[in-house]
Amino acid sequence: MLNYLRLLVFLLMLTAQQGFAQHTHCGTSEKMQEQLELNPELRTKRAEIESFTERWITEHEHEIVDRAVVTIPVVVHVVYKTSVQNISDAQIQSQIDVLNEDYRKLNADVSGVPTIWTNRVADCEIQFALATCDPNGYWTNGITRTETTVTNWQGSDDVKVTAAGGHDPWPAANYLNIWVCNIGAGLLGYAYQPGINPLLDGVVIGYGYFGRPSSSTTYNKGRTATHEIGHYFNLDHLWGPVADNSNCTADDGVSDTPKQKGPNYDACELTYPSASCGSGSNSDMFNNFMDYGDDPCIFFFTNGQKSRMLAAINGPRASLLSSNALNQCPVGIEEHVLESSLIVYPNPAADVLNIQSDQKDGLLTDASVFDLSGKLVLTASKLRLGYAAVPLDVSELKTGSYVLELRSENEVVTRRINIAK
Ligand SMILES: [Zn+2]
Repeated sequence: MLNYLRLLVFLLMLTAQQGFAQHTHCGTSEKMQEQLELNPELRTKRAEIESFTERWITEHEHEIVDRAVVTIPVVVHVVYKTSVQNISDAQIQSQIDVLNEDYRKLNADVSGVPTIWTNRVADCEIQFALATCDPNGYWTNGITRTETTVTNWQGSDDVKVTAAGGHDPWPAANYLNIWVCNIGAGLLGYAYQPGINPLLDGVVIGYGYFGRPSSSTTYNKGRTATHEIGHYFNLDHLWGPVADNSNCTADDGVSDTPKQKGPNYDACELTYPSASCGSGSNSDMFNNFMDYGDDPCIFFFTNGQKSRMLAAINGPRASLLSSNALNQCPVGIEEHVLESSLIVYPNPAADVLNIQSDQKDGLLTDASVFDLSGKLVLTASKLRLGYAAVPLDVSELKTGSYVLELRSENEVVTRRINIAK
């Protein structure tokens, strides 16, 4: 009896987990729907973008192949509570590499596309690079790092708000903002489509699904970002912007992707043709990036999807092409990294002051603390500032205001600090 009960509980848990995964995966459609209900103006804007898209595609359909390659400037905001969530610069670069393969048809697994569709596979002629200039014109590596007290974001846009423990976006007109965090709510990631409020614009990805290989067993090839950025460039899922297309009426607005009833989670087990709405070459295109297969089993965009993305890049996302984010910065290479990336907290502090850089690891600095009469009251030499906070013992200081001076090879930076006992 006990064994039977155990089995029952196990089966129930399995069903619950599967149900959970099948309803969440990518949160884009639900998030967009939520915003459309909150903002009637967004509905109008989205309708305008849709008619622009259709017009642009009609006018340019003969020029879609072999256009000039465009480069999209990216900033990655790592918002972490644990060291595992604080993914490395190399892990982030591996994700950029994945995008540059997937959006250029340079991924090796593209050879798995069935022959009936090989002539539909697109080199999207879009590439990605981490920003080299931050919004203030300072040099950056295109990565910000924020330590947070938030354990699980539950799919909330608060990760885009510094005051809520996340990180404010860099101007959405000039950067593709990507937040990497403990996303929660059973999501791998979500994005907003063009027309959204700039403060929400961008892509959020769970830390376990970002880069190649990532810590996930099935979503380990960086395809979550490939998929979400597809949404960012105005693609829908293959079954359209609805949760359930079992009557086959909804569509993704792309002429060369067949209609389908809903997501295929099991792309790695399916064989062609596997049809839900059509048949033959109108089978479900379950290896497409805009379906829900495991990372090793989604590997292409179509020419029709490319057209929609290029329409976005030449329309609502055109400002990315005139961004200065990838140019030489007005304020020197690396010279002002300390000034632009320094974080000092808490303020006021009691016994320990944490000093951190959110852009560079291993920045060697000397620290001095002066009282307001200019008297030197504390020194510490050779602090290696970086993504992890370096504690400065201020327990000997009395309550009051002080000036903290940090001296690196290239810079002297000061911050007003307060001590409160
Ligand atoms: Zn999606």
